[in-house]
Amino acid sequence: MNDRQQRMTRQRVVILEELKKVSSHPTAYDIYESVRLRLPRISLGTVYRNLEHLASRGHIRRLDLAQGQRRFDADMNDHTHIRCISCGRVDDVPLNQSPSITTMYDVVRKQTGYEVMGCELDFHGVCPACRLRNVTNG
Ligand SMILES: [Zn+2]
Ligand SMILES: [Zn+2]
Repeated sequence: MNDRQQRMTRQRVVILEELKKVSSHPTAYDIYESVRLRLPRISLGTVYRNLEHLASRGHIRRLDLAQGQRRFDADMNDHTHIRCISCGRVDDVPLNQSPSITTMYDVVRKQTGYEVMGCELDFHGVCPACRLRNVTNG
């Protein structure tokens, strides 16, 4: 492995470690800000390219929610997301407690003849903190 490849690998490892630390579904810029504390000379472009690479290899998830910037998630367990329309935060929704999802797979299979492998299902709403803020603001 040459110097350049070694540096790239090191960068990718740090990016993955930083993403695994948080459950906030950060944007590339958020990840760049935390990676920069460990690798001060890294560029946003490098962070972005490495994130895309990790996502294309199935190491992380890329979240393209209806609105807002692309976000990233190192949690590969089967789950979906809910986004607050007021503050933009993104939280996890575990799917294993939603038997209706598998029922939905059956319906889709019957309707289309496909073997259903998964679905991209994103929820949106108002998060508890924003609900509280709305209440206290009258
Ligand atoms: Zn909110
Ligand atoms: Zn998630």
